[in-house]
Amino acid sequence: KLSTALASIMLLASPFTSSASNDIEQRVDELLAKMTLAEKAGQMNQYNGFWEVTGPAPAEGDAKNKYEHIRTGMVGSVLNITGTKDVRATQKLAVEGSRLGIPLIFALDVIHGHQTVFPIPLAEAASWDLNAIEKSARIGAIEASARGINWTFAPMVDISRDARWGRVMEGAGEDTFLGQKVAVARVRGFQGDDLTDIDTIAATAKHFAGYGFGEAGREYNRVDVGTNTLYNMILPPFKASVDAGVASVMNAFNTLNGIPATGDVFLQRGILKGAWDFNGLVVSDWGSGKEMMQHGFAKDLKHAAQLGVTAGSDVDMESYMYVKHLEALVNEGKVDIALVDDAVRRILRLKFKLGLFDDPYKYINEEREATLLGHADHMAAALDVAKRSIVLLKNQGNLLPLSKTSGKIAVIGDFADDKNSPLGSWRFGSIDNSAVSLLEGLAKYRDDIEFAQGVKVVTGEESFVQEITVNQTDATGIDEAVALAKKSDVVVMLLGEHGFQSGEGRSRTDLGLPGLQQEMLEAVYAVNPNIVLLIASGRPLALPWAAEHIPSIAATWQLGSQSGNAISEVLFGDYNPSGKLPVSFPYNVGQMPLYYNRMNTGRPIDKDSNVFWSHYSDSPSEALFPFGHGLSYTQFDYSKLSINADDPAKVDVSVTVKNVGKRAGEEVVQLYMHDKVASVARPIKELKGFEKIELEPGATKTVNFTLDSSKLGFFDREGNWIVEPGEFDILVGSNSREGLTGQFTLSMK
Ligand code: BGC
Repeated sequence: KLSTALASIMLLASPFTSSASNDIEQRVDELLAKMTLAEKAGQMNQYNGFWEVTGPAPAEGDAKNKYEHIRTGMVGSVLNITGTKDVRATQKLAVEGSRLGIPLIFALDVIHGHQTVFPIPLAEAASWDLNAIEKSARIGAIEASARGINWTFAPMVDISRDARWGRVMEGAGEDTFLGQKVAVARVRGFQGDDLTDIDTIAATAKHFAGYGFGEAGREYNRVDVGTNTLYNMILPPFKASVDAGVASVMNAFNTLNGIPATGDVFLQRGILKGAWDFNGLVVSDWGSGKEMMQHGFAKDLKHAAQLGVTAGSDVDMESYMYVKHLEALVNEGKVDIALVDDAVRRILRLKFKLGLFDDPYKYINEEREATLLGHADHMAAALDVAKRSIVLLKNQGNLLPLSKTSGKIAVIGDFADDKNSPLGSWRFGSIDNSAVSLLEGLAKYRDDIEFAQGVKVVTGEESFVQEITVNQTDATGIDEAVALAKKSDVVVMLLGEHGFQSGEGRSRTDLGLPGLQQEMLEAVYAVNPNIVLLIASGRPLALPWAAEHIPSIAATWQLGSQSGNAISEVLFGDYNPSGKLPVSFPYNVGQMPLYYNRMNTGRPIDKDSNVFWSHYSDSPSEALFPFGHGLSYTQFDYSKLSINADDPAKVDVSVTVKNVGKRAGEEVVQLYMHDKVASVARPIKELKGFEKIELEPGATKTVNFTLDSSKLGFFDREGNWIVEPGEFDILVGSNSREGLTGQFTLSMK
């Protein structure tokens, strides 16, 4: 029942139904028939890049084994070998060395661009601009494929509501609907129209499933969620990716309700390959196969291999479990050969789809490599989406935009002359220190800006893998910052997190400004309150003091290669900000997990005190800056909300938006819906539609939304998609809190 129910929604044609795909199936079968069991296990084995591939064969150790394994057909794919020279040498080893000459796939984490670094994914989601996001992924694919890469481990489609988790930066935020849309845009961008094109790469929806719900925001931690959250919050972006034809899915490090995702039959066979009929491949996360031992689920590596293949984990990344044990498991009758064949089919299918059998060297193109990386057109696109990703949170007294006549401008903050931090976490392929810094960007507007670094934020190594140490003691720099602020008219402060303070393994319990930055902010404010605060971060930060005192605040995340240019264009008004928060910004860490689409409790708001019964006695319950919030230098007026529920199959909603300010601007018109009474209690509101529109001053536009059965319903406990008649509330506006409200009744004949 579960299978049919989950399969019944949003069913699109399978991506492999053409005659070309029949041809592929036949070629897969023919090749499979020739393969030994060891060669099959080899295809299911993935190694990390390991030695100077273009050098002589390594003499001993792990590298020697890997080299020999590639040469003897014991490896199906590799990750982190990039560049035409190394890719060519490695491919040659497989194709010319091994008995069947099966080509390797070359994988890499292409997360937000490659050499041209785009904003971190969370920032891009703040643009709510699906075309710009698709283009970003497209360019990431163009550049990575020019270095011989054919497979990325992106997009990360994990929903997360806990800012303590470091990988919030890599996803699209807290909302499932936005998450679905962004996931599809990224999959399309990476994969283009045809995977055989040399500038497209196979995409991976990750991490299946629940990785964003690690208890207490702690990395790799257990995930215990009920069916309501699983079906309605966690799975839909994966389903949307599958429907968009995503080539692969990566499983996860975590346990979900006690079962490690890599060994989860229910998730991978029941839902993904069963109900959803996914015919791409499942890759494990790095070593997640062997981690099943540490979880207390597998007794040894052989057992892990058995559990992994049984659960449908087709490719083992860096656990060595299949290459070491699969043959014996099949021979001993512990694993059915049909399961192995199914996995190998999925892997070979992708290789055929990529065209690697027709030409294993087709992606290796020195000319593309020499001309495409960091191309000017790519940088222009990176600048475009970076501007769109900036969220203006507050602009009291219209301190922004700055102008040539804004008086004397001071810039304060360690990150303002930093060319590395803005590149953010997860940026393989980038050149260190290559971002345009804020100071460099501002220099194009004014040549008289003075700068004080202020307190240092990070001490020690700034590294993707090493722990980041924050300066908690050395207040040097505060005096200089205060002195500069005193003699200036406007102070622009770029404060927040270093790019490596978010990302994998970067959970934090303090969501304030790291180190001594808050102290510095308050000291500067005491002498000059005309502050524009720019927040660098890979997660929502909790800045209640700043929100109360600082007149102008913008979220500027880590914006990639063009960071300083993008921020400067917004500060000086060449671009009118249009970003909206894809995550709630909290008052404090104690509110975690925090999200706008919460459920009601059984306790109503107390009529006398107006206090929500389910509240904290020492903190507000709601967000400081809500989901969907973001200001513009112009103002938009919403009117004429109209709802038509005459057609039982769908509800039409329209609203008129007018630019009532003096500048052209873009607005993300958002529609939220609340099902008032249902057989499973529903959240107080849920995003069900949005459109980004552009309006000249004085211009109006009518925006139409259709709520069809794919939006009106929800998954029940058994995973059935159901739409129930009854009353619904609607909110249409510029964020999840404010807008025009209406109601409709769904009759359903
Ligand atoms: C991450 C994955 C990533 C893989 C390969 C793991 O640590 O969790 O998201 O794709 O490494 O780099």
